[in-house]
Amino acid sequence: MLTKSTLYVVATPIGNLNDISLRALDVLGKVDVIAAEHVQTSKHLLKSHAINTRLMTLHQHNETAVAEKILTLLAAEKIVALITDAGTPGISDPGAILVNRVREQGYQVIPVPGANAAVCAISAAGITNPHFLFYGFLPTKSGLRKRELEALKLQSCVLIFYEAPHRVLACVSDMIAVFGEQRQLTIARELTKLFETIHSCSLVDALVWLKADTNQQKGEFVLLLSGAELTEKPEMSEQAQHTLKCLLSELPLKQAVKLATEITNKNKNQLYKLALSLKEEKRSL
Ligand code: SAM
Repeated sequence: MLTKSTLYVVATPIGNLNDISLRALDVLGKVDVIAAEHVQTSKHLLKSHAINTRLMTLHQHNETAVAEKILTLLAAEKIVALITDAGTPGISDPGAILVNRVREQGYQVIPVPGANAAVCAISAAGITNPHFLFYGFLPTKSGLRKRELEALKLQSCVLIFYEAPHRVLACVSDMIAVFGEQRQLTIARELTKLFETIHSCSLVDALVWLKADTNQQKGEFVLLLSGAELTEKPEMSEQAQHTLKCLLSELPLKQAVKLATEITNKNKNQLYKLALSLKEEKRSL
């Protein structure tokens, strides 16, 4: 039994049409209308599961207007499902504007979980770091992309990006420019599809690998980049740590380290390393 006046947010496959839950099929078969990013793409999925529910279009350019139409349907006790072309709505996909409006108006939003390319990639990448940061798409222009990557330089979590095939080479080159050649990259391509490939190596080898076979530059990509090695916290007396912390809370890092060196008479490099790790700790809180 579905609940009246409710929006169901339903995950659909990221390639293999069988990667859809029994609950998702049940919901999609029973709702009054399905809002889909591209009607034709979704018709193919629905047809393969013998679902004939009415479809309407909701994409990033009409989401605000269509959200109001969906509110009218919910006011008339209809039940609506939201799906996107692939995976989980709202993850690098439309959905957030609609969900916000529906919740604002006091209607229920029920998620129906399922496939997601980032989670699918990490599950098969064999990465032991338990922490990851999902970034999604980087800017398309190299300058902006490098700036975003710079901001992630101290991040110790695995960094997960989505990338388009025509930008994958440029993106990996920018990663090398920012992070150096040796960080590990896992390229997860065409997941759940015929040419599924999961390849892990250093950033510099990844560039060589991609260039060596243009077929490896085709399709859909998830890029998983290893995080920054956290520098071991150097041994330091409690008094010196306290002094540095106080200074860091008031001053830029370099200035805090300089003053801490003068006050504590400790090694400047060690204080600098400690300052970096304190900053990183604070950032990840
Ligand atoms: N909502 C989706 C999700 O839950 O993963 C993501 C949609 S986003 C518009 C599409 C991007 O996700 C692609 O450009 C690619 O980076 C990634 N992606 C989607 N399907 C994929 C697949 N089968 N293999 C690898 N990456 C995929």
